Amino acid sequence: MSTVGELLRDAVARLAASGSSSPRLDAELLLGDAVGVGRTAVIAHQDSPVGPDAAAAFQRALERRVAGEPVAYIRGLREFHGLALHVDDRALIPRPETELLVDLAEREIATRLTTAPRSPGMPPLRVADVGTGSGAIAVALVSALRRRRMDREVVVVATDVSEAALDVARVNAVSHGVADRMQFLAADLLPAHLDQPYSVVCANLPYVTTGDLAALDGELRFEPSLALDGGPDGLDVIRRLLALLPTSVRPDGVALLEIGADQPDLTLQAVASILPGWRCEILPDLAGRARVARIAPAAPAGRA
Ligand code: GLN
Repeated sequence: MSTVGELLRDAVARLAASGSSSPRLDAELLLGDAVGVGRTAVIAHQDSPVGPDAAAAFQRALERRVAGEPVAYIRGLREFHGLALHVDDRALIPRPETELLVDLAEREIATRLTTAPRSPGMPPLRVADVGTGSGAIAVALVSALRRRRMDREVVVVATDVSEAALDVARVNAVSHGVADRMQFLAADLLPAHLDQPYSVVCANLPYVTTGDLAALDGELRFEPSLALDGGPDGLDVIRRLLALLPTSVRPDGVALLEIGADQPDLTLQAVASILPGWRCEILPDLAGRARVARIAPAAPAGRA
């Protein structure tokens, strides 16, 4: 029977040869899952023997990783904003940089709920997560609001053109106990709700250029291209959403859109031409890279 340490050594060598940029981490996570323990236990018990079933499961996971499949899909799990989310190839794997969008949306909602407290009987504040995919943004947002006891004052409408992705989002909403604050809508972007516009629209839409996507043959090729391909300059889908904002965002509302680090100028131009008079601010992530466009209607007359 092989020990944890022996299996890890072999796996790290195979993964490094296959081109993984994090062979040790990959091996520790996958072996932990195969054995049914966490990564720290794997690291701490290098001399422990691994039973044949667990070793076989580990080898199967390793084969998939050697073929280039992302660890998150093999594990069926990815941590995002402090939550363990289910992921599989029906939806994009949530990225750490998208946590900023959740924090910004939480702040926009908290500001609105604090400055204009809602009296009993008022309908909840409407929030949209457009192109929700795994549901990462919506589920993390409601979970964050729940910690502040604000979740009962909002409803988050999670849309996706992919029914399969919406199924993943539903699984995550249910497993984190936030489905009661969410609605799921199979739709291309956002159907116009003229009667019920949103206070906050957030979206991590596809923004990778078709050319970059074709050139990148790494892990991205395992993810749905529907979630990544933003057309020739990456902004095709974002532009389509911009055109819908006048009928979907309240006059005191805001849209928060994730963009690529090299897309601030393109985004500012798109907003200026599609939404004349609207304000657009580009917000950086913790690494100082452009990450989110904050887009808001022109301030109503008579208000600062
Ligand atoms: N940040 C992702 C990547 O570069 C792209 C996500 C997206 O297109 N929305 O892998």
